[in-house]
Amino acid sequence: MTTVEREVVVLGAGPAGLTAAIYCARADLRPLVFEGEPSSTSDQPGGQLMLTTDVENYPGFPEGVMGPNLMMDFRAQAVRFGAEMQTEKVTKVDLSSNPFKIWIGENGLTSDPDCLARALIVSTGAKSLMLGLPEEDQLIGRGLSTCATCDGFFFRGQEIAVVGGGDSAMEEATFLTKFASKVTIIHRRDQLRASKIMQERAFANERIEFLWNHVVTAIHGTESLEGVRVSHTKTGEEQDIPLGGLFIAIGHSPNTDIFAGQLKMKENGYLITEPDSSRTSVEGVFACGDVQDDVYRQAVTAAGSGCMAAIDAERWLESRSDLPEASASATLSSQ
Ligand code: NAP
Repeated sequence: MTTVEREVVVLGAGPAGLTAAIYCARADLRPLVFEGEPSSTSDQPGGQLMLTTDVENYPGFPEGVMGPNLMMDFRAQAVRFGAEMQTEKVTKVDLSSNPFKIWIGENGLTSDPDCLARALIVSTGAKSLMLGLPEEDQLIGRGLSTCATCDGFFFRGQEIAVVGGGDSAMEEATFLTKFASKVTIIHRRDQLRASKIMQERAFANERIEFLWNHVVTAIHGTESLEGVRVSHTKTGEEQDIPLGGLFIAIGHSPNTDIFAGQLKMKENGYLITEPDSSRTSVEGVFACGDVQDDVYRQAVTAAGSGCMAAIDAERWLESRSDLPEASASATLSSQ
């Protein structure tokens, strides 16, 4: 089996990874991008924007743009300048020495890596935790959302609900009252996990109501969300609530499993980068986008950090002229 070599390999193809790919490609580094592979609606190449419909806060689109279309354009732009896309999921990396070793699919179980990289850009993103209900895949982006900043605007004058009892749920609910006529926070206990100040802000908001000790057991709607069924956690009593929208705010999880023990992470699993830089704890490995951002989590901030990672990688490669150049001839598909 051929092991391909590249100067720069990008892991992940959301706004961060594809922006990094555009910049690397335009710097003539012929980046190879592992964009993941579709395994479910909520896990597919293109990142979280593939799960949204209209995106109205990405600059440059005064009329808004569909999330999947925006990502297709990012991708086409990267390809136009020479980025090579592989629709494969990376399952293992070895960052203990340069060049870094990368395995895809089940090959992670064999000893020969599929790819070697001088510089690695990690942009594997994060996923919103979901309730695990079967209707979620169908209704995400159709009244079901995980991002109030992104989608709140679409719920003007409607009655909506937020699931969760942490800071995210309080923040999202408070933000959503700018648009919605009523926001019900559905929480599985009778106490919030959120910080005192966020709780007080939510309690003081006339448009926010609380439904304590309830979990969502079903989501109604086919083309778009129409309501939910909730169940009382103590009595088991069920009721249907008509809703224009439902926001899930029960936390996020960064896609960092394959870097465990190799790259420094915060307690919550997000990668640590040096301040004002995309440098990680391993020289030659750079991180951008949501995989290292548990604060802003926006497409435009991810894209900006992707640009930073590409520039950091390019400058680092230049500074390491002692590294032998990668022979970028073989492609994975030619194996
Ligand atoms: P979090 O603190 O982990 O809270 C998650 C909430 O969702 C909890 O109330 C939890 O219920 C509930 N939950 C989890 N799984 C659930 C399920 N399957 N069904 C129903 N409910 C479920 O997550 P977060 O609110 O996203 O916050 C993450 C971190 O970011 C925290 O450290 C937070 O302080 C920080 N943050 C800060 C700000 C801010 O300061 N502006 C804003 C957002 C987030 P239980 O309480 O019963 O476990």
